[in-house]
Amino acid sequence: MSSGSFDIAVAGAGMVGAGAALALARNGFRVALIETVPPAADADDDGAYDLRVSAISPRSRAILEGLGVWQLLERERVCYYEQMYIWHQHGHASVAFDAVDLARDNLGAIVENRVLQRSIHNACERDPKIEWFMPDRVVELLENGAQEVELRLGGGRCLRAGLLIAADGRNSPTRDLARIASQAGRYRQTAIVANVDTELPHRHTAWQRFLNTGPLAFLPLANGQSSIVWSCDDDFAERILAAGDDEFCAALGEAFEFKLGKITGCSARASFPLGWHRCERWVNNRVLLIGDAAHSVHPLAGQGVNLGFSDVEVLASLIGDGSQLSGQKQLRRYERQRNSETWVATTSFSGLKWIYGLEQIPLTAIRDLGMRIVDETPWVKRAMMQKAMQNLT
Ligand SMILES: Cc1cc2nc3c(=O)[nH]c(=O)nc-3n(C[C@H](O)[C@H](O)[C@H](O)COP(=O)(O)OP(=O)(O)OC[C@H]3O[C@@H](n4cnc5c(N)ncnc54)[C@H](O)[C@@H]3O)c2cc1C
Repeated sequence: MSSGSFDIAVAGAGMVGAGAALALARNGFRVALIETVPPAADADDDGAYDLRVSAISPRSRAILEGLGVWQLLERERVCYYEQMYIWHQHGHASVAFDAVDLARDNLGAIVENRVLQRSIHNACERDPKIEWFMPDRVVELLENGAQEVELRLGGGRCLRAGLLIAADGRNSPTRDLARIASQAGRYRQTAIVANVDTELPHRHTAWQRFLNTGPLAFLPLANGQSSIVWSCDDDFAERILAAGDDEFCAALGEAFEFKLGKITGCSARASFPLGWHRCERWVNNRVLLIGDAAHSVHPLAGQGVNLGFSDVEVLASLIGDGSQLSGQKQLRRYERQRNSETWVATTSFSGLKWIYGLEQIPLTAIRDLGMRIVDETPWVKRAMMQKAMQNLT
């Protein structure tokens, strides 16, 4: 098998890995993009909305606009949300965030993962500096030196590159090959996702109700449906996933306090076990982590892919241009900056999940008070909205 030489190799062409390949190719580097699973062909898309959607922050949107990707999105599949409404199962307080308070049109956009990924892939395909290896995977790291890596793909080819970026998700096999240790834990919760029809319109609002068993989000879709992310304890998830549609819709409506009336229809459901992980380091010689390979946060944050796009932005600003790839010092700078920023996000959202799970009366009263203070203090509310829109930095 022939070998190839590249400035950078990226393992994983999910939203973050493909975004990184594009950003680095725009910096002038020759990039090898390696992906195991070819995306579903357009013909397989029967028009039904993807069950996986992401709330994309204004900062991520600006990053994607800079890459020329946002402009390629199918307009009619993007739903901008103008308000966010949060409340708890117990207590009386709620918090309402409104784009108007920041003199903005919206707080972010809900986009199907498949649609966003396809746009990024299309942009990658048009870029002559990117070469695809798909379907393929990195199976061996033959060398990870101070200047270069050499890797072998499952298909037999060997590639040399000045940097290997592991963007192959939470369980990152490339991270393991690079011997980067990580700690991981389970929340003992499962996120159920589905697209549902509701009696009342979603009003371009992202809704989140905190139940003692976990948060339930309703995110507005452009077709009028809502995408739900229902994080709940594993045993409850197992039961409700096995229920018939009528029983599922009734339980969902009740859990959501019928804020949008009855749930009148429901797509197929999917589920994801929820967990977290932290990596001991983000860089080992010429292998670097990005996206979910480097960090994961609870979906109540709606920040996982947004943090990944921030990784891409920071890396692209530190990595140099096509004439010279940055040395170890700049890679360490990337590691320090992004590790501390995502640590704050991971820790604060684990803390929020814990606070919202409390049932003891004095603690729920304090939580209520906190929510009331946020809701009634405009500068606190504005500061929180601005943080979320800038991917928490
Ligand atoms: C229920 C739920 C809701 C969420 N909602 C939001 C939200 O609203 N907003 C938000 O910002 N985030 C959200 N997230 C998080 C977000 O989905 C992830 O952070 C994001 O998908 C991570 O992207 P990634 O490209 O880093 O990794 P992945 O999406 O995991 O992509 C990894 C890619 O690598 C490929 N791969 C795997 N192994 C190999 C290999 N050995 N070689 C080559 N390729 C390989 C895979 O096929 C895949 O294409 C949510 C998560 C969940 C579970």
